[in-house]
Amino acid sequence: MNQNELQKMVEEISLTSFNKPFVHEATFNSRLRTTGGRYLLRSHNLEFNPKQYQLYGEEELIKIIKHELCHYHLHIEGRGYKHRDADFKELLAHVGGARYCREIPGAKRQTKVLHEYECQDCHLLYSRKRRIDTSKYVCGKCRGKLRKKL
Ligand SMILES: [Zn+2]
Ligand SMILES: [Zn+2]
Repeated sequence: MNQNELQKMVEEISLTSFNKPFVHEATFNSRLRTTGGRYLLRSHNLEFNPKQYQLYGEEELIKIIKHELCHYHLHIEGRGYKHRDADFKELLAHVGGARYCREIPGAKRQTKVLHEYECQDCHLLYSRKRRIDTSKYVCGKCRGKLRKKL
């Protein structure tokens, strides 16, 4: 399946399952890893993982397209487009979309580890979102001095 066929497929599913046109772009993005697809809040475009299709076939891809189209239509209409929203759950069940995709970029604050510290004595690692004052805080296990790694 190529980009063109994907685009057509998304447009068609949008019309048949949602009764609404999909007027943005759907592309394959091979950089997606664990996620089957994603909806981009800013551009309104959809991206799909080509591996998903290669591994699980068309039926699974259709479910993911439906899932992403739920985000798409609800977001554009100003309704609850996030996974936990009632609007989303309801629409997803109605069209029979896949239950999961990864979090939408920009919709949630990242919980990435930004600072990593290592105890100089027992080498235990600590990952923190905020900086630790290493002159005040010591290793919780051995009371050793912490050193910043990242
Ligand atoms: Zn999703
Ligand atoms: Zn230690």
